[in-house]
Amino acid sequence: MFRRSFTVATRSLPRTLPLAYAPKVSQTPSLPARFLSTTARMVIDLRGRCVCSNLKYTVSLKSEEDARTTLCHCSSCRRAFGTNYGLTTKVPLEGFKYDQGEPKLYKQDNGVIREFCDNCGAYVCEYGEAAADKFRYVMWGTFDEPEKVPPKGEFFCSNKPSWMPDIPDVFRKQKIKE
Ligand SMILES: [Zn+2]
Ligand SMILES: [Zn+2]
Repeated sequence: MFRRSFTVATRSLPRTLPLAYAPKVSQTPSLPARFLSTTARMVIDLRGRCVCSNLKYTVSLKSEEDARTTLCHCSSCRRAFGTNYGLTTKVPLEGFKYDQGEPKLYKQDNGVIREFCDNCGAYVCEYGEAAADKFRYVMWGTFDEPEKVPPKGEFFCSNKPSWMPDIPDVFRKQKIKE
């Protein structure tokens, strides 16, 4: 507990420095504004649904840090999303529950399981077999208020099309890990 509150105090320190220090402050490793926000450790409740609303879910998180939204440029995400990248929010399984409807499951060759609505066909979440009892990757666009969990990073940037501009203030991996 003590160490955590100490870290917060240190991170907010540059804001109180005299203006003369400003250039130096801006060269410190960039810390996205969300970490300085007073709401960063607040509980987050997100609701979401499929296109036809047969499937509805709630995500309840202890803090903003429990949600990790990322873009993924891998070929599997491209195919599943039908766009040039996938956009999902990783949340702990215990924070995810369906309020309405039963999803249909599809497991693809690479072990990724996707849960979708058997009426409108919209995917709601996905996960790898190995993490099935730990996490859900929720399709960002199915949240009612997706802006509560903006992107923190990008994966498989090696596949990113050259015409796509960079997203500011996010980590980038050429593959899944490096
Ligand atoms: Zn539906
Ligand atoms: Zn992917």
